Amino acid sequence: WVAASFTKQQFPLVRLSSDSAAPRTPHFDVIVIGGGHAGTEAATAAARCGSRTLLLTHRVDTIGQMSCNPSFGGIGKGHLMREVDALDGLCSRICDQSGVHYKVLNRRKGPAVWGLRAQIDRKLYKQNMQKEILNTPLLTVQEGAVEDLILTEPEPEHTGKCRVSGVVLVDGSTVYAESVILTTGTFLRGMIVIGLEMHPAGRLGDQPSIGLAQTLEKLGFVVGRLKTGTPPRIAKDSINFSILNKQTPDNPSVPFSFTNETVWIKPEDQLPCYLTHTNPKVDEIVLKNLHLNSHVKETTRGPRYCPSIESKVLRFPNRLHQVWLEPEGMDSDLIYPQGLSMTLPAELQEKMITCIRGLEKAKVIQPGYGVQYDYLDPRQITPSLETHLVQRLFFAGQINGTTGYEEAAAQSLALSPRLECSGAGVIAGINASLRVSRKPPFVVSRTEGYIGVLIDDLTTLGTSEPYRMFTSRVEFRLSLRPDNADIRLTLRGYKDAGCVSQQRYERACWMKSSLEEGISVLKSIEFSSSKWKNLIPEVSISTSRSLPVRALDVLKYEEVDMDSLAKAVPEPLKKYTKCRELAERLKIEATYESVLFHQLQEIKGVQQDEALQLPKDIDYLTIRDVSLSHEVREKLHFSRPQTIGAASRIPGVTPAAIINLLRFVKTTQ
Ligand code: FAD
Repeated sequence: WVAASFTKQQFPLVRLSSDSAAPRTPHFDVIVIGGGHAGTEAATAAARCGSRTLLLTHRVDTIGQMSCNPSFGGIGKGHLMREVDALDGLCSRICDQSGVHYKVLNRRKGPAVWGLRAQIDRKLYKQNMQKEILNTPLLTVQEGAVEDLILTEPEPEHTGKCRVSGVVLVDGSTVYAESVILTTGTFLRGMIVIGLEMHPAGRLGDQPSIGLAQTLEKLGFVVGRLKTGTPPRIAKDSINFSILNKQTPDNPSVPFSFTNETVWIKPEDQLPCYLTHTNPKVDEIVLKNLHLNSHVKETTRGPRYCPSIESKVLRFPNRLHQVWLEPEGMDSDLIYPQGLSMTLPAELQEKMITCIRGLEKAKVIQPGYGVQYDYLDPRQITPSLETHLVQRLFFAGQINGTTGYEEAAAQSLALSPRLECSGAGVIAGINASLRVSRKPPFVVSRTEGYIGVLIDDLTTLGTSEPYRMFTSRVEFRLSLRPDNADIRLTLRGYKDAGCVSQQRYERACWMKSSLEEGISVLKSIEFSSSKWKNLIPEVSISTSRSLPVRALDVLKYEEVDMDSLAKAVPEPLKKYTKCRELAERLKIEATYESVLFHQLQEIKGVQQDEALQLPKDIDYLTIRDVSLSHEVREKLHFSRPQTIGAASRIPGVTPAAIINLLRFVKTTQ
């Protein structure tokens, strides 16, 4: 950690708007800095909510660039994508238009943990994303590097907090806005590393962001350092695929977006992936050349779940590691070797790669490299991603310590609706922000979505290594499934935030009522187990002969689906087989019906704790009305939890402290 040593009194180091002679135009409701996966979602969501939005980014031609792997989704990440889509976000729809190999992971487990994943055509994704961004009403896109923030003097009613009111670009020009969202990814003091060479860059070919990093530090934000890396890219025609294990895509393809019934390309036209493995020769090259590999020697934390080949060899010696050879696009000559992220000197990378089966003649077209960058301790932001230190300044994406396109996109979706509700400038005009500020914030809780879990983990626990989403982080996995993200979030997104289109809302309403009706009909059809046996001979029902069995319970059996059930009992079930998605979702609902009953009781308990709001202006360091240890006071002061539930998840905040806080909240309410 780099300890922050600046105080609010030192703000003049950062520009104050009263000092600036620059004209107060142009003026936007929202400025989003960064056109990566967080920035594109944040900018379009803010515009969808009705804000005049400016997306400021280094280069328009890198908007939507996938810095590393040419794939989206996977276990846990696929859930985030469905939730982003449920809030009308972009990435899922764009993936349905740009994939080259669609596969659902974890199929052998239940649908609650299936992981939708696709290999994506990099070029196509960027093209489709740029088309969408450049055609979004209310959204202006401008190239430029932001160097500094413009702050206004603290507002008296906000206990001395200053407020962001615009940005300063590298050429000295200024742009003003009601709120500013920082989504600068790996660019804050970014340093690229290959072998012993290090040079400043946000990613290969892009300048780092140094002025902005200094500004944030001067403001008193606690800054940490993380690292990540990417593998070399290999010429496709130099690989001997014929001796490798081939993986074909799913048939049919499952789309990411609720609005799509299918993806843009037929399964038979999609591209395969291939599997190979490392071997002891790879270990030998890594171990012999550690002295030439400064990224590996660095003590900064890298991604635990997407480690470099060097970290894998050091942590798990003498093991064979999987290497997936993944296409970079339909007409790309490059292959991405997933599992071989490395920072060896460029000349040794090809030597190592050619030791691997199928890659004996491989040609490296672009070397792998590492990147080290600043991130901001996410305990410095609220669940709506607004910073504690500066009003109307929001952080989203890798800047908050996460890794992955999906994690970045998900955060941005969560914050944009909040902007509208907070009155942080999304509704046009100065008076509009005052008008809407009376609305409550839009926060997704842990009981409602993976987005809620992601943000709650970050804001209450912080992170000391790149954070990625997993199903295991989620307490209520059986309720928070990829299939029902629309029911969980689309309706709220429409009513509470205004970020969801009418068409999507109506579709989600139709699905919700059809599911409810279908479940109720399935519950009402009851026969004896022997009658069911006659109707559907392939099912063997294990229940007492005397008790009638509901159609909903028969649907739980693996060998039964809505089609077989409707064949047995055409009326009234036939109509539920007309929509494929509805039929599949009824089957999933039936599978989880009994376990969900118990989970819903637990969810209610958690929601009660979440409903107990802690006062926003409480000064934990000095307050005398509640008995708390000094350590607990410091932890609460830093994280500023908004509810009793969030406070209880902060490590070191004891059950006794929670009881005292609870008493305090009850006396103040
Ligand atoms: P980015 O996608 O990095 O976008 C940041 C944007 O901000 C860029 O458009 C940049 O131009 C702009 N910007 C920055 N500073 C300024 C400024 N001052 N003014 C204007 N514009 C600015 N994720 C994985 O899931 N798996 C991996 O294996 C993986 N490996 C990675 C390897 C490398 C080398 C890198 C760089 C990233 C890797 N990632 C990986 C992470 C993944 O790319 C990010 O998590 C994701 O892109 C983060 O999205 P973001 O929007 O926060 O930032």
